[in-house]
Amino acid sequence: MNERVIVVSNRLPMGDNPSGGLVVSLHDVLAASGGCWIGAHPDAGSDDGRFEPIGETPYRRLAFRLSDAEVKNYYLGFSNSVLWPLCHRRADLVKISPGFTDAYRAVNRRVAEMIKGEITATDLIWVQDYHFIPLARELRRLGVPNRIGFFLHIPFPVLADLSILPSPESFAQDLTHYNLIGLQTRGDVARCLEMFRSDPRAEFMTDGSIKFADHVTRVRSFPIGIDVTSFRAQAAQDGKDPFGAASPEPFAIGVDRLDYSKGLPNRFRAFGRYLENRQDGIRPSLIQIAPPTRQGVQAYDDITEELQGLTGKINGQFAELDWTPIRFINRSVERSRLARLFRRARAGLVTSLADGMNLVAKEYVAAQSEDDPGVLILSRFAGAAEDMTDALLVNPYDIEDMAGAIDRAFRMDLSERRERHRACLECVINSRAGLWAENFLTMLRASVETLEMPPTPELHPQLN
Ligand code: UDP
Repeated sequence: MNERVIVVSNRLPMGDNPSGGLVVSLHDVLAASGGCWIGAHPDAGSDDGRFEPIGETPYRRLAFRLSDAEVKNYYLGFSNSVLWPLCHRRADLVKISPGFTDAYRAVNRRVAEMIKGEITATDLIWVQDYHFIPLARELRRLGVPNRIGFFLHIPFPVLADLSILPSPESFAQDLTHYNLIGLQTRGDVARCLEMFRSDPRAEFMTDGSIKFADHVTRVRSFPIGIDVTSFRAQAAQDGKDPFGAASPEPFAIGVDRLDYSKGLPNRFRAFGRYLENRQDGIRPSLIQIAPPTRQGVQAYDDITEELQGLTGKINGQFAELDWTPIRFINRSVERSRLARLFRRARAGLVTSLADGMNLVAKEYVAAQSEDDPGVLILSRFAGAAEDMTDALLVNPYDIEDMAGAIDRAFRMDLSERRERHRACLECVINSRAGLWAENFLTMLRASVETLEMPPTPELHPQLN
């Protein structure tokens, strides 16, 4: 029987064309393996314990429904008001409510039951992200012996913060039911291993795997990437001015979901400080695209207001009749248009306070022309900074540091820009989308549920 790949994620791709890093990365493996993608239907509702098929192409998609109460308690609640801030080192924003944990467990249990009815013995199951940490444990409880892998797209939490969880001991235990735990960076792997080292129930094997009760798990980094070729092609499309008549020159660009982890207020403050300090008389703009996300969660409403206030203040201070220093666009922009905007921007600003990888950093680099590239200003707390050390690395808590980097980016000479861009582009190519999925699945296939050492598979050289 054929091995199929079954992907499980909270969000189900709905359109017919793949877009976005994760979808693009998984498109080919799913199409080639005859596998399917399981995820939540975008509309709330109830299901009768069976998946709802969503079209047949480009691969099978199966949806489960979340009720309004589950959206509130499982999605906005435990996933995005507990796990998200915890993993992004914002323990101060964690909100714990009694209904959250039960709903989180219950959704995982229900989805596990539905998956059990769908799979065959040879299927590889690949679970994506923090919404489904207990899914493997629930599947094992139902007797599912298949290889199950997990990939965490966001940072792995620091050990001390885990005590904030309502039941901290189950976090590690849930993870051990996966045969393979994939993380974005070596730093994430170090934090995960630290958690297991501090847990008396976990035992380290000589090959680095972790024995927990009667099962074994492995932890590795697999830095996610983008489809470099298609993004470069979109960026270089001729004849389509992304601005129309209202083109600002020169400008820096930021593109982020409007999330407190992205460090936007400090970015705006740094841009204001740069304008205050600048001596060369140029009138640069910052174009900030920030589509709203998770509306209804207080922390997200607060940050929107803070940014509106900062935009008004900085524009009020510096604007002229024909110059708007900050253009704050609180809507999403289509990726092909973004690609062309990136190419025109003299600097790309990625100043997250904490970030799993940050695909925008890779997209900005991929979009540049090699002859006259812009400069990536990159937070040292974004996963992308672990390898892209030739970007202008900044401390997103330090306004002066960032203001200085913006100034440097606008004034950098061509040869330095080219040199830095070449090195960054090499990193982007080495972690391109297809390799991420291929390497993870190769490693998952080689994992076994016994204590015997598995053969070490050959991986592409992106991995350390
Ligand atoms: N994106 C987009 N339109 C927007 C804003 C973002 O298509 O208006 C895309 C962006 O190009 C990138 C993704 O959304 O591919 C964001 O990924 P990233 O890893 O940077 O951040 P995340 O949102 O996953 O935290």
